[in-house]
Amino acid sequence: MSEFPHLERALKYHFGYDQFRPGQRQVIEAGLQNRDLLVVMPTGGGKSLCFQLPALIKGGLMVVVSPLIALMQDQVEALRNNNIPATFLNSSLNQYQVRSREHAILNGKVKLLYVAPERLVSDRFLPFLDLVQHQVGISAFAIDEAHCVSEWGHDFRPEYRQLILLRQRYPKVPTFALTATATDRVRADIIQQLGLREPTIHIASFNRQNLYYEVREKNKGSFAELLELIQDTEGSVIIYCLTRKKVDEIAFKLQHHQLSALPYHAGLSDEERSKNQTQFIRDDVRIMVATIAFGMGINKPDVRLVVHFDIPRNLESYYQESGRGGRDGEASRCTLFYSYGDVKTIEYLINQKPDPQEQLIAKQQLRQVIDYAEGTDCRRVIQLGYFGERFPGNCGNCDNCRSPKPMQDWTIEAMKFLSCVARCKERFGMAHIIDVLRGSKNQKVTQYEHDQLSTYGIGKDKTVDEWRMLGRSLLHQGLLEQTSDGYAVLKLNALSWEVMRKKRTVSLAVPVVQKISWKERSSKAEAAEMLLMRLRSLRKNLADQQSVPPYVVFPDSTLRLMAQVQPQSLEEFGKLSGVGSHKLAQYGEKFIHEIVAYRQENTAKSVNSQVNLGNGGNFPTETELLTLQLHKQGLSVEEIAEQRNLRPTTIIRHLADLIDKNQPVNFDLLVTPEKQQKICQVLDILGDISLTPIKEYLGNNYSFDEIRLARGKWRRNHKS
Ligand code: ADP
Ligand code: ZN
Repeated sequence: MSEFPHLERALKYHFGYDQFRPGQRQVIEAGLQNRDLLVVMPTGGGKSLCFQLPALIKGGLMVVVSPLIALMQDQVEALRNNNIPATFLNSSLNQYQVRSREHAILNGKVKLLYVAPERLVSDRFLPFLDLVQHQVGISAFAIDEAHCVSEWGHDFRPEYRQLILLRQRYPKVPTFALTATATDRVRADIIQQLGLREPTIHIASFNRQNLYYEVREKNKGSFAELLELIQDTEGSVIIYCLTRKKVDEIAFKLQHHQLSALPYHAGLSDEERSKNQTQFIRDDVRIMVATIAFGMGINKPDVRLVVHFDIPRNLESYYQESGRGGRDGEASRCTLFYSYGDVKTIEYLINQKPDPQEQLIAKQQLRQVIDYAEGTDCRRVIQLGYFGERFPGNCGNCDNCRSPKPMQDWTIEAMKFLSCVARCKERFGMAHIIDVLRGSKNQKVTQYEHDQLSTYGIGKDKTVDEWRMLGRSLLHQGLLEQTSDGYAVLKLNALSWEVMRKKRTVSLAVPVVQKISWKERSSKAEAAEMLLMRLRSLRKNLADQQSVPPYVVFPDSTLRLMAQVQPQSLEEFGKLSGVGSHKLAQYGEKFIHEIVAYRQENTAKSVNSQVNLGNGGNFPTETELLTLQLHKQGLSVEEIAEQRNLRPTTIIRHLADLIDKNQPVNFDLLVTPEKQQKICQVLDILGDISLTPIKEYLGNNYSFDEIRLARGKWRRNHKS
């Protein structure tokens, strides 16, 4: 029997959640017993709750140290929306505001106070803190982003070092340290630097099961794929690029494709950056294209797609950056576009570093990224292995697990390759070896008389890319070595000789065209979609009225539950996960009203449509019919989208499905007959494939929408 049997009730009352996430309960119980805590949980694991709930249960004030103003404001806004008395003190306030907040604190009206570390330990603030301790008591110090105390972490903040002063000044007040950084060294540093006393340590698994990880080859078609990925995503998107220039370029291209995107990088003014960030957080803009300067300051829980358009610096940053997707636990996607060209760029940059030790570390980190990107096993094995966690594989939620790449026997080719390395006396890099294999007449080849070698020209049947893929795989599998002196000279090892002597076979995972859509949609989910959109727009209105981000009103998961369960009374509504007592009172009626209205319209229309359509089993849905109606009135796709407050792509999807369902859509208005013909020709040749390769084939004059529509028609004609 637990010492605190009522924690679940408090969780539901204050935050609306039914259950604790793994680890939360244990941590909270320890916190309530006044123990020091070290909580290591991945982003989105639910760290905040570990100090917020104790703050509400314990007497006195919980002082929360937070490194960034934006983070404090976000958290306080979210707490206030649950009617939890929280506030912050920082440089954005005027003297009067500070005074009145301090007054409220001393009167015991505040349970959580957020402050920056430098203010907390300042000579002006400490006497105030003494007063707080004396009058209302301090329940604990919660040190958020505690890894900032460590030089070994990635965001070292010297101000965090002074926090030890709190321990000395208030020895009886427990300290809760929280971080998402997992390395042993940082962990030990946190304990030491903050002076934690026999802390209860909780280290959660770093596996983020809701994230789908995939790696795609970066090539000429990647931007088109990116567009398709965005189209396949419902919700916010972050796209990371390495340079400012690339950020600007991609943001511009996306805008050019009528997508709502903004850039974010250190080259913009502070004002512009914070404006773009706010628009993103409030869902006024959907896509943020950013350098890694973007992220630490945002807490947006409902990012659904994180794309790395360039190679990440190391696996830890990749994990952290991609981890900004799906913090609310909902399914989200992390896509890395990988090319060997990028590796070369990074290698070049590493070689510019003056310190050889630094170079070595950077090269090792790059190696790990390559292992991750080129690996054919479960992505989570490598990723979690990096944090010292052993993962058994077969996660079922990464590209390699979902669609394993077929293995092919490349032993003969490997023998050719390796013997060419041997003939060239192990003194050349990959490009030269491939030149020789492919019988190049390039000057370097003739100069060394490599056109006289027996391996000259024996590999004309394979492309340069194919040979390079093999070469890299040989390195990867340890069947070949490469010097790390900057010249990348290929060297043979014992295993290479085994291959050449036919004692060992070589298989290669060959790339396959990847599917864009990885989600499985149920028909029930489709039906809920229309209502979901209405609820979303209600949520956005309510959020705008209060100038807060929509997720502060309700998280996506709660909205989805509403659409599925369709509660029609306050009592039912209050049972949904995410609806606490305060939100029930504040928003319940409004959402129920929307649900009831939707249901009434829906039954009325479904009676109609049954009369009209008979029962072919392939009815248009409610929302498709609305679109059809407007289409018949002669409205364009954009006009329909505008009128229905939906995205044009959604309208296009309706029309494509309507065509599929034999409805009277005037097709020629949507795609010109010439284009239709061309698209059908391509489909006749290539078969029913995904949009990207078709678009690649046809070029930029054809939009995804046109292809999607024409494909719908083509499919209908081929159904028999
Ligand atoms: P972290 O600080 O670890 O990144 P947060 O504390 O911001 O994570 O929590 C991430 C999201 O999960 C938030 O939207 C939060 O409201 C939600 N959350 C936290 N605990 C629970 C829970 N027990 N049940 C459902 N959602 C939760
Ligand atoms: Zn996997």
